[in-house]
Order: sequence, then structure tokens, then C-alpha cells
Amino acid sequence: MLRTHKLGEADRIITLLTRHHGRVRAVAKGVRRTTSRFGSRLEPFTHVDLQLAEGRNLDTITQAETLSPFSAALGSHYDRYTAGTVMLETADRLVVEEKEPSLQHFLLLVGGLRAMASGDRQPGQVLDSYLLRSLAVAGYAPSFEHCARCGLEGPHRWFNPSMGGVLCSTCRVPGSANPAAATIAVLGALLAGDWPHLEAADPRSLKEASGLVAAYLSWHVERALRSMEYVER
Ligand SMILES: [Zn+2]
Repeated sequence: MLRTHKLGEADRIITLLTRHHGRVRAVAKGVRRTTSRFGSRLEPFTHVDLQLAEGRNLDTITQAETLSPFSAALGSHYDRYTAGTVMLETADRLVVEEKEPSLQHFLLLVGGLRAMASGDRQPGQVLDSYLLRSLAVAGYAPSFEHCARCGLEGPHRWFNPSMGGVLCSTCRVPGSANPAAATIAVLGALLAGDWPHLEAADPRSLKEASGLVAAYLSWHVERALRSMEYVER
């Protein structure tokens, strides 16, 4: 469940990311009535098993069963909730086409929300890792080892979102960031999901890496996501 908006008196249009059919928009009839048979199952964050009836324009949700109610574990923690909201918005933006199968996006999002809900990892790290990996799945894989322009083996110290990652000193362009070597290593660990590395990393590198992830995301998603402003970094 990515997002919902009101339709008419009592209905909602629900935007979903599905395992087999990619991004789907469907109508949930009567969902805003207190007597709705869907209850709170059609809230953002919820992982549900759905049945849809195909309509002329939009499909209609006929049945919903909760698989994982991530909303409970996220709603009670502000940092998890805001980070989770950015994940939903990002998925909504990166999966552009409706009903195009997007299994990798689906699995990344469910895995990320599960990690976020468990509370075992720092919400900011779960988010940053999710962002880099979903950008990679969307075709914007960043390079944190080889120079993004000439392919020269790293480590390199220059970073530029518009060039696709790190740059060697020959290829660096004006306006490139010059992060610490430990920060570049953290970025690589976020992309690879190397949690032992991230748990041992110092807070300054994590913070600097977060800023670069946000810059990379903004560049590739055209404009900064609205929900990003609320994430404490
Ligand atoms: Zn180069």
C-alpha cells in the first residue's frame, strides 16, 4: 500500500505496489465508512493479500487480508515512520508504469519495511540502503568504486550525483563533492547491504553518506521528495 486519496463520499483510490503486477491503482468502495469491511487494512505501509475486480478505468478491491501490518510498528516511532514514508514515496516515483511487473522493487520495499518495523537497525541506514538499491533497480546504479566516467579502479575521492557516483581526479567535474574516504566506503556498504560495516561505521561518515544519498536521489528523481524534509539526519 503506497498511498491513498479520497474519492467521492466514502471511497478511496489506493495506490499499491504488487508482487506480480507492479504499481496498481484501485478503488476501495465504502472504505471511509466506520462500518467498512476493510477496516484499517487499506492504510499505507500495510502488506495485504488482495482480490481485484477489473473495471473500465480503475480496478475495484473486493477483498483484503492483512499479511504484515507494518503500520503498527512504524506509526508509533516517529523516525521509523518518516523514513518509511520516504520509502513509499520513492517506490511510487520509481515504479513509473502501471501494471508493469516490478518484482525487484516489490521485494526491496517489503524487505526494507520489514527491517524498519523490526527496529533492529537504524531507520536512517535502512532508508539510505533502500534508496540506493531501489535507484539501482530503476537503472540508476551508483558507482562507489570505479570512476563513474572512465571506469578507472578506485578508491576515488570525488562524488557527483549527475555523473553517477565517484570520479577519479582526471574526470572530476566542477561542483563535485569531496567526501572522506570512510564516507565512500559507507556508501558502498549501504548499496551492498553490508550491515556489519555500517554498524561499525562512525556517525560522521554515516551522516555525510546520508547527505550524498539524498543528493543522488534528488538528482535522479528530479526534485527532492516532499517527505524527505521530515527525516532527521
Ligand atoms: Zn575517471
